[in-house]
Amino acid sequence: MRYDIAIIGSGPAGISAAVNAKIRNKSIIIFGNEKLSQKLVLAPEINNYLGFYGITGSELKDKFKNHLDSMGIEITNQRINAVYAMGDYFVLMVNDISYEATAVIIATGVETKKPMKGEEKFLGKGVSYCATCDAPLYKGKDIAIIGENEEAIEDANFVEEMAGKLYYIPSNRKIEGLKEGIRIINSAPLEIIGDDHVNGVILRSGEIKVDAVFILKDSLSPKELVPGLETIDGHILVNRNLETNIKGLYAAGDCTGKPYQYMKSMGEGQTAALNAVSYLSKI
Ligand code: FAD
Repeated sequence: MRYDIAIIGSGPAGISAAVNAKIRNKSIIIFGNEKLSQKLVLAPEINNYLGFYGITGSELKDKFKNHLDSMGIEITNQRINAVYAMGDYFVLMVNDISYEATAVIIATGVETKKPMKGEEKFLGKGVSYCATCDAPLYKGKDIAIIGENEEAIEDANFVEEMAGKLYYIPSNRKIEGLKEGIRIINSAPLEIIGDDHVNGVILRSGEIKVDAVFILKDSLSPKELVPGLETIDGHILVNRNLETNIKGLYAAGDCTGKPYQYMKSMGEGQTAALNAVSYLSKI
């Protein structure tokens, strides 16, 4: 099946895009997770969201969820690893599963943490952001996983089946559900090292020798996600219509730049969706 619009990200920008595209009777698929957005759930008190002064992020998330449920919009609980522009449609990859859509809206939020020393240097040379895609390349080898997102434990358990030694470095100290054979390291990773290829990680408390490092974070850099996408200072370059440099590809929310705020994200989600709808009517 080819969807009219695929939306990547279930934060305020993505769900606003989904609601508006659905109202316009488009077939949509929205990728993300049931909690919608960690950044939403974690907000202790929100005072700039009109009509809901003092609401907590968790309460607002429940309201958003009810809204989606009322409209029959379901979140597809999957992480997109790559988006390929095929001319008049897009292919979105989740490991070895692919989805097709005529237009795509990227609403993946922003990664505010700076890359670790060595992370960019060794990207594709032992550093990867997708454990399930790249683990088979390192069968029997020693691997470190830096677990920063909700899916990290599940991914680590999958990698354990094919790795030699598997080290798990939890950024949030969460280790519940991790398989027994996995070695847990509670020490901050400082640098990824190697020659032409990764051969280790320097930690605050020492060093481990590994052949690959999988960094599992909430948001991939936009360039990683979509080959050929133009960015500026780490944000996706868009015009006032939220169009990117790739025809049919839109972006909305924190990923397009500051201010990082709910209402800006939702406004952009709406604008991107309405412009994607107009694009669909012309092709
Ligand atoms: P996000 O909310 O970051 O959502 C992006 C979603 O996309 C996430 O669910 C992520 O898992 C998903 N995703 C990413 N990559 C992929 C992928 N490849 N495949 C599938 N899904 C993917 N703003 C305010 O206006 N007022 C406040 O009071 C306020 N308080 C805040 C308090 C805290 C503690 C924090 C952290 C932020 C706060 N913010 C506040 C900022 C606000 O949370 C963000 O501006 C807003 O959440 C951005 O929405 P977004 O949809 O662009 O991105």
